[in-house]
This record gives sequence, C-alpha cells and structure tokens, in this order.
Amino acid sequence: MNGTGGYALPDLAYDYGALEPAISGEIMELHHGAHHAAYVRGANSTMEQLHEVRARGDYSALAGLERALAFNLSGHALHSIFWRNLSPEGGDRPDGELAAAIDEFFGSFDSFRAEMTAVTGTVQGSGWGVLAWEPVGGRLVVHQLHDHHANFAVTSTPLLVFDAWEHAFYLQYHNVKADYIERLWSIVDWSDVGRRFDAARAGRLVGLTEASGGE
Ligand code: MN
Repeated sequence: MNGTGGYALPDLAYDYGALEPAISGEIMELHHGAHHAAYVRGANSTMEQLHEVRARGDYSALAGLERALAFNLSGHALHSIFWRNLSPEGGDRPDGELAAAIDEFFGSFDSFRAEMTAVTGTVQGSGWGVLAWEPVGGRLVVHQLHDHHANFAVTSTPLLVFDAWEHAFYLQYHNVKADYIERLWSIVDWSDVGRRFDAARAGRLVGLTEASGGE
C-alpha cells in the first residue's frame, strides 16, 4: 500500500440513450465517458503526485495538489451518485420514511422540489444542487456546491445530486437550464435516494464504488 490511485470509472446500470428524452445519449456518453473519466484520472494522478511529494519530502506543490485532490475526488463521487440517482423508470415522488422526512424538514415535497430546483438553477458558474443528510443536527438540508467541492458542509452526506455544470445539459438544452432541471425530476430514482437516506442515518455511505442497486 503506497497510497496511490485505485479509483475507477463505474459502469452505468443503463445504456447511454436510456434516459432520453430527458438527457440525450450524446450528453450521457460524453458526460460519463469523458468528463467523469477525467475526474477519475485526475484523482488517481493526484494521488500519485502526492505519493511523490511524500517520497521527496518537497512540499512546495502541496497546495495546488490539495485543490486538485478535492476537485477530482469530489467530482468522481458526485457523478457516481448522480448516475445512480437517475433511472429510465424514475420520476414521481419518494415514499416511506424519506417522504416523511422531506415533509418534516421542508414542509412538503412541493416545497422541497421548489428549493432544490432553485438551488440548482441559480448556481453561478459550475456547481451542483444537493439534498443531503446532516447528522449533527439530524436533518435533511439542501446545499449549493460550487465546482465539485466548495460551499458544502463537511458533516453532510449527499443523497440526491443535480449536476448544474453546462456539460450536463448544454448540447441539448442550450441556455435553458430550467427545462433541463424540470426534466431531471422525471428520471429521479427515489428508491436509490431512499437507500442512501437509510444508510446515511445509520452512519454509512453507499453506492460510490459499485453499479446501481448494489451495496
Ligand atoms: Mn458533470
């Protein structure tokens, strides 16, 4: 064990075209095969460079590598969650304890949906809208991430993530991000979000290293 690499691009549980018409196959292929893959390469490369820093005892490049580490590792994790949050059979609303918790902390599902839509739609530059479990307060929260890793509370565990980067929608929706977000709601796999909710409350993080549906 030398602390290098080990991150891998996860397979999708569906074909690139399976989320059409909400998300085009062209976007999915580029988003997964090029963008997500680049974050995985970046995470591995940064780990290797950190290993070299350690071996040389020369820490002059450390600040930049630390930024690269947070950016690439968070990008890898967020996309791994994003693919599994979505499904061709998705849509509708959550049920069970997740639905009850959304009502408790946001007032209603419609209120939560409006907040999540707004937080995703108002990202300045690149970022994400995130529904997360915040264990210190024992509550659901919505975060607005900048890039992949800023403006996020270290306590929180992401449950549902909406990619608001232009690469996620521009080829299909051009500058109308609101239409893309509206369509995202039609493909949310609430069973996956509920599984993450159950695990997060039990202090576990699931669904980062395996194909959709596994533990
Ligand atoms: Mn993305």
